[in-house]
Amino acid sequence: MNNNYQNLVRWLEEISRLNGVMSTIAWDQEVMMPAGAADARAKQIAALAGVIHERMTNPALGECLDELHNHLGDFDAIALCNIQEARRDFDLMTRIPNQLVQALAELGSRGHTVWVRARRENKFSDFAPVLDEFLKLKKEWAACAFPDLTTYDANIDQFERGTTAAEIAVIFEQLKDTLIPLIHEIKEQSYQPDTTFLHGHFPVEKQAALARKISENIGFQYDKGRMDVSVHPFCGGSHPTDVRITTRYNESDFVESLYAVIHETGHALYEQGRMLEFGDLPVSESLTMGIHESQSLFWERMIGQSREFCTHYFATICEAFPGNLKRATVDSFYQAINACAPGFIRVEADELTYPLHVILRFEIEKGLFDGSVAVADLPEVWNEKMDTYLGIKPPTDTLGVLQDSHWSSGAFGYFPSYTLGAIYACQFYKAMQKELPDTDKAIESGNFKPIKDWLNENIHSQGRRNSPQELVLRIAGEPLNPQHLIDYLKTKYRALYRLA
Ligand code: ZN
Repeated sequence: MNNNYQNLVRWLEEISRLNGVMSTIAWDQEVMMPAGAADARAKQIAALAGVIHERMTNPALGECLDELHNHLGDFDAIALCNIQEARRDFDLMTRIPNQLVQALAELGSRGHTVWVRARRENKFSDFAPVLDEFLKLKKEWAACAFPDLTTYDANIDQFERGTTAAEIAVIFEQLKDTLIPLIHEIKEQSYQPDTTFLHGHFPVEKQAALARKISENIGFQYDKGRMDVSVHPFCGGSHPTDVRITTRYNESDFVESLYAVIHETGHALYEQGRMLEFGDLPVSESLTMGIHESQSLFWERMIGQSREFCTHYFATICEAFPGNLKRATVDSFYQAINACAPGFIRVEADELTYPLHVILRFEIEKGLFDGSVAVADLPEVWNEKMDTYLGIKPPTDTLGVLQDSHWSSGAFGYFPSYTLGAIYACQFYKAMQKELPDTDKAIESGNFKPIKDWLNENIHSQGRRNSPQELVLRIAGEPLNPQHLIDYLKTKYRALYRLA
């Protein structure tokens, strides 16, 4: 029996290490790889995906799990979690034909290359066949993986286990009811913060040095991670001791890159804060994408965009860009970086308009899966929703439907996680403030250690011992509740815009 568990651990560690290799070559594809290697890399990824699939579906692993099933009472919580997670993955994987797994991996790699070009050339028609093919494969996948769920719910389950489109729709309607009128009210308001000093020339080297300093202050360990440049910022890596974050630089806007780094650092702290002892086992892995996103937004929004954070870093930022910021004060800087400005690009969106970018994508995905939206109509549907929610229409598809990388890798069902994460982040932040009443002072003095320690202890090192639903209940004392985010945004933005 003990032998069976030792065997299971060996299987799972090997699978995790192969997945680590996959993550590293996927990172390489986005950061380092020469463009000419795209076809070869797609084949390498497909081959490795086949090997991983073979390991994950090997009948010997199934027999090992069957044996363990009769002795579950003998194991502690950590071992039980590993067994249950392995069982779930095994059952899920054995329902998917190897051929389909390889087709998805190959299309993901090729699709990414097609997307990069289509986005650059503003040619949605080049990307549309990839989307059609992905939808077909993802529906096939859903029917195999979760025959009891709708095809979109099955895809959501990959990122937000246990959450359905119907539940998300209720939460999103609640957000729309408050945010759309508030954004409109702000647009009509005569008082608008001065943001002119955020425009100018900000050399890449200065931006990179500032980003590195802040990410390091927050707690990113550069001896166990890297920061590089890619088209779309992301956090990847192969292990808690090898976490890769990326950003992109725009010499006329330093805020975009800086806050992307703070965001990705939040993800990275989650990864670096996992249980090292079980670093290659399921129990140590992060929970859902929504919980992951709660960690990035916790740092980017709740902390990075707070008045206290601005107070602490204002002098440092002025020192990096002395010419541009001489007209600014801490207060005007705080207001400027929080300004509500409906724009086309999700990753550049402010805290208030961001959820509407997500809701738009969620509604489109839902339509693509239930057949009420056709791929060919996507640019039009996209632009109409942008007009309804934010009062603006993208002039090009590069600034519209082609902006995100997610669909180019078939990640349907991912987008809702961003806003579920914002809700979790708000609830976690409130809970932390109760336990650490000096949080504001700590941020103002640049002492982020108590905050990082609190997150390490309560979230990062917990791994998968609790479900996300249990985690939020344990930390916040109640389930996921969008009202906290709504109240927080209303209070912050009514004050910022001097609304009655
Ligand atoms: Zn993120």
